Order: sequence, then structure tokens, then C-alpha cells
Amino acid sequence: MGLHLYDTRSRRVRPFEPLRPAHVGVYVCGPTVQSAPHVGHLRTALPFDLLRRWLVQSGYEVTLVQNVTDIDDKIISNAGRDGTSVWELATRQTRAFDDAYRAVGILPPTIQPRATGHIPEMIALISALVDAGYAYPGGGSVWFRVDRFADYGALSHQRPEAMLPSAEAESGKLDPRDFALWKGARPGEPYWESPWGDGRPGWHLECSAMAGKYLGSTFDIHGGGLDLVFPHHENERAQTLCGVAAGAEADEMARYWMHVGLLTTGGTKMSKSLGNSVFVSDALDLVRPQVLRYHLLSAHYRSSLEYTPEALAESTAAHDRIETFVRNALDILGGPGEAAALGADDGPVAAGRKAARPAGAQAEAVAAESEVTPARMWADFAAALDDDLSVGRALAAIFGAVGQGNQVLSKAHSRQLAGWVNVTRRMLGVFGLDPLEQWPTAGAELRPALDGVVQIALDLRAAARARGDYAEADSIRSRLKAAGLIIEDTPEGRRWHLA
Ligand SMILES: [Zn+2]
Repeated sequence: MGLHLYDTRSRRVRPFEPLRPAHVGVYVCGPTVQSAPHVGHLRTALPFDLLRRWLVQSGYEVTLVQNVTDIDDKIISNAGRDGTSVWELATRQTRAFDDAYRAVGILPPTIQPRATGHIPEMIALISALVDAGYAYPGGGSVWFRVDRFADYGALSHQRPEAMLPSAEAESGKLDPRDFALWKGARPGEPYWESPWGDGRPGWHLECSAMAGKYLGSTFDIHGGGLDLVFPHHENERAQTLCGVAAGAEADEMARYWMHVGLLTTGGTKMSKSLGNSVFVSDALDLVRPQVLRYHLLSAHYRSSLEYTPEALAESTAAHDRIETFVRNALDILGGPGEAAALGADDGPVAAGRKAARPAGAQAEAVAAESEVTPARMWADFAAALDDDLSVGRALAAIFGAVGQGNQVLSKAHSRQLAGWVNVTRRMLGVFGLDPLEQWPTAGAELRPALDGVVQIALDLRAAARARGDYAEADSIRSRLKAAGLIIEDTPEGRRWHLA
């Protein structure tokens, strides 16, 4: 059926048609680098990473632009509070965000423009808006004239007359809803020269200028958190359609507007200003980064997601189940290369009913219906992601493959097992969760040596048990556990893995 995406402006799930064949331009509003990243920032960024990987898997080339807002009221006030410079704070926090994104496997943007690196483009855009009568200087700032743009409110589905005043309280506005394109300099703050006096750009303006520069006046997908629909994206759209796209054929800034639901704690939005945010570094003290990634991707991107220790524990168990299957299957098969060689990943596998299959044409039809193959599981997975990134169904396909694979987890079924582990890894790869390629255990070359050491410990434990010294046997097991080594007894023998 091909990819379909929900578009906030048209409020519909629509077939995805790129502007240019085989290429997709995506602009995602990036962080304001005022303080350390929290888990909510990752939740907003991850669906676009999934989308990007799925587009690439589907044969598209993707240009993903994610900006950094490195000048802003909060950056200025936080720098003042910390006794550091705006530039130093912004640099440090930009690096912290890059590190946090990288920690959970988010691919770096194709282009990562910084607001302060695009002041000339912003001044040019403001000039175009002033010249066309959409903006005016007042009180040292420059304001966008909301009542001149008839389509204002179309993205957030509000009637202009019902809108609240914009956030800026400065004087000089003709209409309380008008918003700042350029903010007049205040004493002691960083500023740039402009035709309207010294100042700095408004937040909304930055994104219009940078998206226009790197993706053009109309591009495919514009994304961000749900809380950006209004005013941020409404204002970006107004600026772009009246300024960047003036005189062009464009009637929309982005053909699809995608918004990610909020991350909540105790039912309220996780936010720095509300004091209920969990820093990424704190979350990563509790769970491994791939588990955090799994957890934050496990709800549909348009839903809100509750962040609690219980929910995190459930995700840990679910992720472990997948990872354990992949590890066990590859142990049995002798490694990923062997699995690939063995498994055409589309070999038919009856869904556990082979032995009981009755005779006759009718029974055959029943059997065919119940036949589950890796290829069919992949088709379910693809259909789910094509349906506005329906991760619930996509994860069901992954767990379906894991369940089928676990049923044939032995040497005797190695061809079928290879089919299931291969398709599982292929699906995990789209989620950025393949344990081998995307999350290789650090120091994999140490594995043979560790295998030997673990075997010695297990032999000592067996010897202790044999002579009736259960205290010593228990002690060995608990010391292995304390060292982060989990021992599993399986029909295929003992295995160990890192906790
Ligand atoms: Zn933006």
C-alpha cells in the first residue's frame, strides 16, 4: 500500500508522495540548548529516526535537517545564572544533546544548522516580509502582522479571532497576536546589527530561514513535538508562506506536518519548567541505552507515553526477550554469517500445527491460512510501518518472529531457525535495535577469553556442589551475578550473557 502519514494540517492519514522521486526532505525542530537533555527530548527525536530508517529501507534517499537553537532568552538567563558565557553554555549543551542522541542510536542529522550561523539569511527573510507588508518595525523589534495572512491558524485549526496574545510582552505591536521576528537588543545581551537596529532573531524565524535554505520553500515533512504546533509551527508556516515562498507556487511549507505526543510523568508533561523531567544521564544509569530506545519507541508516536519505573521494567523484559532469542539462535547456528547462509529468510514454517495437519482439501486450506512464514511476518511489519508508523503492530510482528523462532530453537531445525532469526534482525534493524550490528557488545573480541573464565567458574561451582559445599556453590553464582554475568541453564547446555 506504500507509506501513509498523518498530517496535522489536513488532519488525515494521506498517502506519502515525495516532491522529488526517491528523495525525502525532512526538517525536525531541534533543541534549544539551554540545559541538559531530558528523556522527553529523546522521545520527540526517536520517531523521526525510525521514520528515516524506514524511508531508507523503502528505497528513499533522506535529507534530515535538525537545527540547534543556540540563542534564546533561557540560554541568556541560564548563562547569567551560571556565570558563564552564552557561547560556552550553548556549545556545552549542544555537545550534551549530540551525546544523548548518539547514546540511544539516533542517526546524526544530514545537516545540523545553528541559528547563530544564519543571521544573514534571517535578516533577508525579515526584509522580504517587511517589503511585502507582512511585517513592521516597532519598539526596536520587528513584528509579523498576523491579520495580513488569511491562512493564519490553519495548521493549529484555530480561528484567528479566538487566538490569545503572543508570548512577547514588549511594546511596539499593533495587534497582541503579532509575534517577534527580530527582538531589539537589551543591555548586556548578545546582538547582531540589522536594518532595524541591534538585536537578535525570534525563535520561530530561525526555523523558516534554515528550512528554506537547506530544503527549499516547500519540502516533504516537518516534524516536532506536539507542543510546537502552536505557536511555533503556525508562525514558521506564516513566515515561510509569506516570505520565503512569496511569488513562488508554494501553497504549503511542508506537505506533511508530523507531531509527536508528549512524554508524561504522573500524567503531566515532562518539562524542565515543571521540575518533573528526568535527565537522559539519570535514565541511562537505570537501563541500557538500547532498552531506553525500545521503551521510547514502543508507543505510537502520536500517543502520549507515560514514563514510570514500572513501564520501564516492562520494556526491559520485552527487549530482553527479543535480544535473548537472537543471541541464543546465533549461538546455536554458529553466528550471523552461518545464519545468513542457512536461511533464505522466507522458508515456509507451519505455525506449530504441522504434525497435527489433517488430510483433505479443506484441511489444506486451513493449514495454508495458519502458515506463518518469515516473509509474511516481514510483510506484516512493513504494512504496519507504512500505516503511519504503527509500531504496536510492527512490534507484534517482531514478537511473532521471536515466538516462532523460540519454537524451533535447536540444531535440528536450523534452517527454520535461521529464517526466523534473520527476519527478526532485519526488523530490529529498522528500529535501530539489532543487537549485533547496531548494539555490538563492547569488547566482543574478549568473548572467547571470557567464555573460558566463565567455564572455569562454572567448573569450580560444579565441583563445590559435588562435594556438598552448597555455600561455596551459591557464593560463586552470586559473585558471577555481581560481576554482571547471568548464567542460564538450557537444553543445549549452559549459556551466559551480560546482565
Ligand atoms: Zn522550529
